[in-house]
Amino acid sequence: MNYDYIIVGGGSAGCAVANRLSENKDNNVLLIEAGKSGHPLSRLPVSFAMLIDNPNVNWRYRSTPEKGTSNREIPIPRGKLLGGSSAINGLVYVRGQKLDYDIWSQMGNRGWSFEDVQPFFKKLENYQNGCKEVRGNSGPVKITEVTERNPIYNALFETGKSMGIPINKDYNSDDQEGFGYTQTTIFKGERMSAKVAYLDPIKSRKNLSILTNCLVSKIIIENKKAKGVEYIKNDRKEKIFADKEIVICGGAINSPQILELSGVGNRHILSKIGINTIHELKGVGENLRDHIGPRLVYKVIKPGLSYNEKARGFNLIKQIFNYVFKKDGFLILPSAPVLGFFKTKPELASPDIQAHFIPYRVVLKNGKRLLGNDPGITCTINQNRPDSQGNIHVKSQNPKEYPEIKYKFLSKSSDQECLVNGVKLIRKIMNSSKVQEFCGQEVQPGKEFKSNENILQFIRDKAETLYHPSGTCKMGNDEMSVVDNKLKVHGIKNLRVADASIMPTLISGNTNGPCMMIGERCADFILND
Ligand SMILES: Cc1cc2nc3c(=O)[nH]c(=O)nc-3n(C[C@H](O)[C@H](O)[C@H](O)COP(=O)(O)OP(=O)(O)OC[C@H]3O[C@@H](n4cnc5c(N)ncnc54)[C@H](O)[C@@H]3O)c2cc1C
Repeated sequence: MNYDYIIVGGGSAGCAVANRLSENKDNNVLLIEAGKSGHPLSRLPVSFAMLIDNPNVNWRYRSTPEKGTSNREIPIPRGKLLGGSSAINGLVYVRGQKLDYDIWSQMGNRGWSFEDVQPFFKKLENYQNGCKEVRGNSGPVKITEVTERNPIYNALFETGKSMGIPINKDYNSDDQEGFGYTQTTIFKGERMSAKVAYLDPIKSRKNLSILTNCLVSKIIIENKKAKGVEYIKNDRKEKIFADKEIVICGGAINSPQILELSGVGNRHILSKIGINTIHELKGVGENLRDHIGPRLVYKVIKPGLSYNEKARGFNLIKQIFNYVFKKDGFLILPSAPVLGFFKTKPELASPDIQAHFIPYRVVLKNGKRLLGNDPGITCTINQNRPDSQGNIHVKSQNPKEYPEIKYKFLSKSSDQECLVNGVKLIRKIMNSSKVQEFCGQEVQPGKEFKSNENILQFIRDKAETLYHPSGTCKMGNDEMSVVDNKLKVHGIKNLRVADASIMPTLISGNTNGPCMMIGERCADFILND
């Protein structure tokens, strides 16, 4: 049987595309997902900590060790189930700054300025606390704000005020700057993954078929026209065809991999592993960007404020009780209940760093992150729009073999400078008299890391990603771009890419919301074509 549309990958963007294309009964749509249909823990918000390395629902990629990050392998978790990474992520909802999208537009991508993308953010959002002109309140993705309160958060806000940092009631409105309670993809104590938002409510649609546990091994391309996909199920290869279009939504690691396996990429790279180049696009797999984030850890000296105490031993039972009966407490927290978007230099037009404040500290035991015994608070910071760019390329023709991922983190001096300044700014906030009423000494990196060189070395030694890989099938018109402004793959008919990989530059924030927006935008392009 032929479908009209085949969507490869049921993640943040793929679920949105599948929903919108199948709204029209006349469209026969197939969604193919490599992973399972779900995981029993995924609905529980705190599952982000439990599924972060779970091979049943996670691709568990690793970066190639590189000098710039002290020859470490950096873990790159990616969701491998319906909902994709939105089903295992930290549930923080951020749109990014107006400037992020205006930059995309200024790079030549007509239709992607903030003014252009805002209606699609509004379309996906169901957020009841925002200004109606700016925020959506009836979309499929229910967004709520953290209600947990803690005197440390007040101390942070007060300190911010004294430093000229505002409290921002809605960092997803026109101005991102300031401290704010996190907006989350959590509703009534449960995770709102893209699957929950976009697929669960339309189970009865007969014109949407979903295949799970099917790994797409390549796009079938004839005469530079995408015809169908080849996939592997139970070790058997199958083929399935699309009369209209194929949309690749495999995410920033897998989408370039699928293109390369299909013969679309840099001829030089493909020929080395014996793949015949059907169409040369030098940019496939290039322009990899991600948020690298050092974690600063402080002691908490006032009892009862940190989840290191509030969620251990008997207190954990209390938290479980809270969850079951009140849908409250530790188990419904996102990865960070308070966010900050700050300028490391006052002259900047908009914030250049994001900070996640997390009311506990974790320790590494046998490679696993566990809640530590000692009460603490963690602050992770990242540069909003990093300049360093790495790449992802297949190592063989085997679709099951993981690609090589080189981040080249901190290779640009602008990134180094921004993060070092960021660490200094967070120290200023954390060492303020108000915060020090509750928090004690810096545990990581520790006060001996004073000079810029030492701070940079700490970042190189310890920083991890915030799990936002993007940019590897860049949208644009230059030689290194892969898709055009309607997300069509340059030079190949009936083939689009829609996911984090199309971002020409990284946005200022967490990437789930922007990926769902990209899915919404892609469906709109297809339906209006
Ligand atoms: C641990 C973690 C925490 C995060 N925390 C946050 C957060 O708090 N807030 C936030 O906004 N963002 C967060 N992110 C990032 C965000 O979730 C992702 O950027 C976003 O979900 C990516 O969407 P996507 O559509 O590009 O890809 P994905 O959602 O990753 O979807 C890709 C899908 O394609 C499938 N697929 C891939 N290859 C194939 C193939 N060959 N055949 C068939 N199917 C295939 C995958 O299994 C997956 O389901 C986090 C991510 C992770 C991993």
